Order: sequence, then C-alpha cells, then structure tokens
Amino acid sequence: MADLTRLTAAETAELIASGGVTAVEVTEAHLARIDAVDEKVHAFLYVDREGALAKAREVDEKRARGERLGPLAGVPVAVKDLFTTEGVTTTVGSKILEGWVPQYDATVVRKLKEADLVILGKTNMDEFAMGSSTENSAYGPTGNPWDLTRVPGGSGGGSSAAITAYEAPLAIGTDTGGSIRQPAAVTGTVGVKPTYGGVSRYGMVAFSSSLDQGGPCARTVLDAALLHSVIAGHDEMDSTSIDQPVPDVVAAARNGDVKGLRVGVVKEFRGEGYQAGVLQRVDETVELLRELGAEVVEVSCPSFTKALAAYYLIAPSECSSNLARFDAMRYGLRVGDDGTRSAEEVTALTREAGFGDEVKRRVMLGTYALSSGYYDAYYGSAQKVRTLITRDFERAFGEVDVLVSPTTPTTAFPIGERADDPMAMYLADLCTIPSNLAGNAAMSVPCGLAPEDGLPVGLQIIAPAMADDRLYRVGAALEAAHQARWGHPLLEEAPSL
Ligand code: GLN
Repeated sequence: MADLTRLTAAETAELIASGGVTAVEVTEAHLARIDAVDEKVHAFLYVDREGALAKAREVDEKRARGERLGPLAGVPVAVKDLFTTEGVTTTVGSKILEGWVPQYDATVVRKLKEADLVILGKTNMDEFAMGSSTENSAYGPTGNPWDLTRVPGGSGGGSSAAITAYEAPLAIGTDTGGSIRQPAAVTGTVGVKPTYGGVSRYGMVAFSSSLDQGGPCARTVLDAALLHSVIAGHDEMDSTSIDQPVPDVVAAARNGDVKGLRVGVVKEFRGEGYQAGVLQRVDETVELLRELGAEVVEVSCPSFTKALAAYYLIAPSECSSNLARFDAMRYGLRVGDDGTRSAEEVTALTREAGFGDEVKRRVMLGTYALSSGYYDAYYGSAQKVRTLITRDFERAFGEVDVLVSPTTPTTAFPIGERADDPMAMYLADLCTIPSNLAGNAAMSVPCGLAPEDGLPVGLQIIAPAMADDRLYRVGAALEAAHQARWGHPLLEEAPSL
C-alpha cells in the first residue's frame, strides 16, 4: 500500500469511507511517522497515542455499522497547544501551565471530535503565541522540515512543521498577528486566518482577545477548506462569534477560478527589508493571476505602514490584562508556597519563574501603555490607527475583490538569528498584522521557492470579512496552476528528513 502519510486529507477521508483503508491504519501510519521524525522536528509537545487510536477504532466501528461518516472522518489532525483539551495537557508553550489538564474541550476541539477527526496530539508554539519562530517555547524550538537549522515560523510553528513533515495531514493554528499565515509561508503550506468571529475562541487560551482567531493549516487548499468548514460557525459560548452562515469555502476550493476577479496588489508591502527572491516569486504569481484572467491593479493602503506599531501596543495591552489570571492560585505552576509567604509573594515568584522573557516584555509594555497618563497617548492612538487601517481596507475593497501581498518579507531565517532581537522578530509579521487589526479574512498559499536559498515563499490573499470563500477560490486557482508547473502541492518534498 502507498504511504498513507503522503495522502491529502480529502484523499484519506475518501479511502476510509470506501473501505480501502481503516482509520486505525491511517492513525498508526502517522504515529509511526511521528516516532520516526519528531525527535528531529519537535513539532509535538504531546502525542495522545491512546486517545488517537481509540477515536480511530470508534470511526471504524461506525463505518462497520453503516453509519454516515462526516467529510473528514478518521483523518488525523494536530492541535496547537493553546486549545483546551479535556483530560489532555495544555501548556500554551509555557512553564506556567506545565502539567495543567483542562476539564473541558475548546469549541474547536469539540467540533473536531464531533466530526470524527482523530486528534494526534498538541503542537509546539511560542509561549502564549508570542513570537514568529517557535523559539519562545519553554519546551525548546521546532525545526523547519525544509532545513532543520531554520525556524518553522511562529507562533504556530509546531502545527505547520507537523503537516510539512507528513506527521499529520491537517493541523489547527491560531493567528493574532500572523501565527497561522507566517508559518504556512515559510514551510510551503496553506494557512488561513478566518474572519474574526468566524471560528469560536471558546477554550483558546487568550493572548489578545480582539485579534486572536483559530484557523486551519493544511498541505492543500481543499484540505484547508474542509477543515475550515468543520471548525467554523456560530458559538454562543463566545460573545464575539458571528451569528451568520459560514461562507461555502469547500465549494470555492473545488471551483478555483479567478476569471474577471479584481485583484489589488498592496503597494506598501515591498521595498527595504524584503528579500529579492520573495518579491520575485510574488510578482510571478501576480503575473500568473493575470494570465488566469484576473484584472490586476495596484492599490495603496497608506495606514498599513503603521500597523506594526499599533499592534505592538494593542496586543501587549490586551495580553497584560489576559495574563493576570495566571496568579499561581488557579492554574498550573505555584512557586514558593511554603507557608511563610503571602499570596502576593507566591504570585510574584511564580510569574517570575513561569513566564519567559518575551511574555514578561509584553506584560510590562502593556501595563505601561494602559497606565493612567499614558493610556491616551499609546493605547488610544493605537486604536485610532486601527480605525484608519479598517478604512484603508474598506476603500480598497470598494475597488477590488481581493488584495494580495507577500505573506512575509523573507523566507525562513536561521534558528537563533533573531532570538535576541525582538524588533527583527516582529518584522516577520509586517504584512499579516493589518488583517488582524481589521478582522477580515486572509490566507497564505505557497508560490514557489526563493532562488537564493531554495526555501518556500508564501503569497498572502486578503478578503473582506465574511468573504472567506474568495480566499479559497483564488488559492485553489493558483494551486492548480502551480501544481501543473511543480507537480506537487507542497512544491516538492521538504528535503531535510
Ligand atoms: N508574531 C506576532 C506576535 O508575536 C503574532 C503572533 C500571533 O499571531 N499569535 O505577537
């Protein structure tokens, strides 16, 4: 039998449904792959072998009884360790939650289970999703399967590395400023930040509540769409969840077509700091869109140049408030509780020991930006910039159906290169942040390998809120055209494993 780990999620589901293979066989193949490569990749923080096999057996029994199976039944999925999983540890990449076992499932996890997907385990991430390289994980970095000495992006580097290394066909990520799209770009995979409110945040450990959004990671556009449609939808447990029908992303992914589509190229996202090979591949892909029948124009969004500065006030402000709950009394780690210290002292010692440098930096920045006397100057100004960015999008979407840009200015950088330089690290999300601030939908799709280093480049596609289907329509058209050129959805096999 062909290697089951190389199939797409759609192919796997079909094979299981038709009885060509059992869900247990599929799960065992992926667990064996994890055993073979994860020591090198370190995509997983926890592998739930028993839970995965039990679920796979359940799917096989359902099929044997003739019950109807969902479109992804029996397909393995890896979940970023930021979603609560009942009975399974959830660390958020932090020492402060080491050993914490939640008593409930996040809505996304509940939906995965109800749709009969097989959860393989929890993936590595930058602590509290703060970072662009997965080096801020308290449990050590993840390697990029294209070159293990390079980062897989972040914060969701574990999820993207897992699908790139064929440890899972699907993964779940979260995107506050780019943490699904940027890892997708640098691993040559597909990553989608749905419209804010499109996927429930219930059970996602909060970083910046007005920006955080869960979404799908996959090796193909159709697989991402299938996963998107499983996890999306209104949830009364999340007050920001949108009470509207989910856009038909699966139909869009099956009907990739850009004829007559108006595409705007964001003028501001090029120039200094952008790798030549990244711009070359993006330009070629824009040309390809033209050849496929799209009308391409240049669009200016001047406020996007201020997005990074606004984000690094808003996100830390919200994080300083959200992370106040880690007080050593309710969850996880407790340091210095020897009967001689006050509760305040135990809280301080625990936060000192349990949080890493980047988390502390953000909590301090946020506390400062929110303090009286500075609030208007920092947080207030940042919120005004946020409004300007939203208006830039509104104006742009008056002229075009989608916007495109590089997903990230460079390809995967070496592990260690930016670890001590927060500003250099923050620049990785230059192009992805505006969509978080405005709450609209965006995707990264592979668009080739940069000539100078042979590493994957991602094209970002941006759509208005609740027009997520447009991302899939464009993504699928490009994927089909690229596949005709490269012969493989992942460009080619990541070479280092
Ligand atoms: N890299 C950005 C940050 O460090 C975005 C993170 C994210 O999307 N979770 O905040």
